[in-house]
Amino acid sequence: MGVIVKKVELGWLDRTYVWPVAKGMAITFGHFIRQLLTPTARRFTIQYPDMKREVAPGYRGLHELKRFEGGAIKCVACFMCAEACPARCITIEAEEFGDLNAHQGFEEKRPKVFRIDMLRCIYCGMCEEACPKDAIWLRNDYEVADYDRLSLNFGKWDLMNTYASADGKAVITQDPTPAVPRRTIAV
Ligand code: SF4
Ligand code: SF4
Repeated sequence: MGVIVKKVELGWLDRTYVWPVAKGMAITFGHFIRQLLTPTARRFTIQYPDMKREVAPGYRGLHELKRFEGGAIKCVACFMCAEACPARCITIEAEEFGDLNAHQGFEEKRPKVFRIDMLRCIYCGMCEEACPKDAIWLRNDYEVADYDRLSLNFGKWDLMNTYASADGKAVITQDPTPAVPRRTIAV
């Protein structure tokens, strides 16, 4: 439905533009004084980065690729997240690995390469929703910044360790079980 917007007629005082600017400055000054008189704990302004804002439950921040107790990745390289991603910023290459039953039941794959281009990601959470293994979470870290674009193309180990220090877990840089060499099928 259309809305009729009424034209505002300016009086002579408004047409001087001095009065509207003075009114604007008075409002700004009022906020400034109110801010000065508000106790620090109740101020809206956060002294970032010394203070950090508590994010709301369910906030979608930086991703984490979850792991089992022994360090094995939970992801089974099913590509569901990459398919669901509207920004097409997830790249996965799968590999087979040994010791299948110990970690993943009858699943036989894990990602050899798992990359998310954080500059393309829109933090929509569709990857988390699509994952059948609960293997990718968007958590509360919102500090995703760097000096060059390539540094924000996060790989498997970046994503597995994003919250390692926050959770008090060890940083891991290799899979606990070796990959199975690629098999060739005779035809
Ligand atoms: S949060 Fe959205 S845009 Fe980012 S990787 Fe997941 S599905 Fe893609
Ligand atoms: S993170 Fe989940 S949805 Fe994405 S490939 Fe791994 S198991 Fe599949």
